[in-house]
Amino acid sequence: MSIKGTDIVKKLPEGGKKNCRECGLPTCFAFAMKLASGGISLDKCPYISPQVKAELADALAPPINLVTIGHGENALQIGNEEVLYRHEKTFIHQPGIALLVSDEETEASIERKINKVRELRFDRVGLTLKADLLALYFESGDKSKFEALVRRAYEATDLGVVLISDDLDALFEARDIYASRKPLIYPITEENIDRAIPRIKQSPTPVGVRAETVEQLVPLTLKLKEAGIEEIVLDPGSGNLREAIAAQTLLRRAALKQKFRPLGYPTIALPCFMTKGELKEFVAASVFIIKYAGIIVISNADQYSLLPLLVQRLNIYTDPRMPLAVEEKVYEINEPNEQSPVLLTTNWSLTYFIVSSETEASKVPSWLCVKNSEGLGVVTAWAAGKFSADTIEPFIKRCGIEAKVNHRRLVIPGKVARIRGELEEAMSGWEVIVGPREASDIPAFLPELVKKWK
Ligand code: SF4
Repeated sequence: MSIKGTDIVKKLPEGGKKNCRECGLPTCFAFAMKLASGGISLDKCPYISPQVKAELADALAPPINLVTIGHGENALQIGNEEVLYRHEKTFIHQPGIALLVSDEETEASIERKINKVRELRFDRVGLTLKADLLALYFESGDKSKFEALVRRAYEATDLGVVLISDDLDALFEARDIYASRKPLIYPITEENIDRAIPRIKQSPTPVGVRAETVEQLVPLTLKLKEAGIEEIVLDPGSGNLREAIAAQTLLRRAALKQKFRPLGYPTIALPCFMTKGELKEFVAASVFIIKYAGIIVISNADQYSLLPLLVQRLNIYTDPRMPLAVEEKVYEINEPNEQSPVLLTTNWSLTYFIVSSETEASKVPSWLCVKNSEGLGVVTAWAAGKFSADTIEPFIKRCGIEAKVNHRRLVIPGKVARIRGELEEAMSGWEVIVGPREASDIPAFLPELVKKWK
């Protein structure tokens, strides 16, 4: 936010002294502070004049607009970034990775790429890493071929798309096929913008704007904004990686440091057109993850090239203030039944992955109860009071494990053996068993435990 609560309050009714409480807050000052932190919407105060409302809405708008491409669970959001460097706070919306498919490619190649982008998924630290978009490229000069490609992608997958065509008619015909799924249409340029605007307005969708330089983007975005088109993605038209890094940095600085609204949009980078050779292209793509692309279009991918890119993206866009955590719930491992052992651990991703993979390796069907510890490991969570008897007891009740098993035996991590007594006291009817200190001992521990029970 580029305006402080103390500045907002002066603009509120009666200079911020009306204090009528209709917004649900005790004072105008409280409303102003909440508004500045994004915790309440402007509409909650019915007395702000339309002019002040417009002024405040502009001042409160994020310095880089949010753009959504695609629909439903595959929708990709880019923009809304607030910092130049990740360590200042966090990067917010990770860039979408798009796989380029040209209508010049063979049937088999098109088929393979569409399948790839659907199927290349990697589970890591409780998340699914995957490419996000298809970039459908009109290269052949034959409109019917491009239309066939667009229809084929539309039917095969509901992933979002970037539609790339220098032919405006072909571009809007493709947009019409994808109209219900918010495609990004690209490129809108100085040459075609006047013809494009009325057609964009017929069925609004995000727009990729291309110019030769950063400066030349400005009149284009102003024109689009004037026409009411605000979901804009910028391409400063860089010819090589060095120029591209400079342009991307300039755009980010202009938006965040100078608060220059006409450049306050996310960007698209196209290493697929910028370099030759897969290795160079992936090096360029990895640079754009850091500097500062919203969408990165690559021409090809397999698991060996895509996975490192996705892991890099995960690392750069993970909030450094928050430990990686998995969802608090009961996880099923090796198809457990009502007699299977119940294990307990915390929700730090690393803890979860080590414990779950060792439990899986034991081949013993088990229930793994993962308690929310705000992403802390077992010992740290215990020391911080987030993995103690009085927090575990209500978790075991609410997680539903009692309905899944016909016994009351809970295996706790060996590193918190000391809570066994207090846990048994708190959890009436449960026997608490101390498990191994190291997860690597689980494959030996669990079969023995089950044998003993039998
Ligand atoms: S509704 Fe408006 S005028 Fe009333 S207290 Fe809230 S901010 Fe102030």
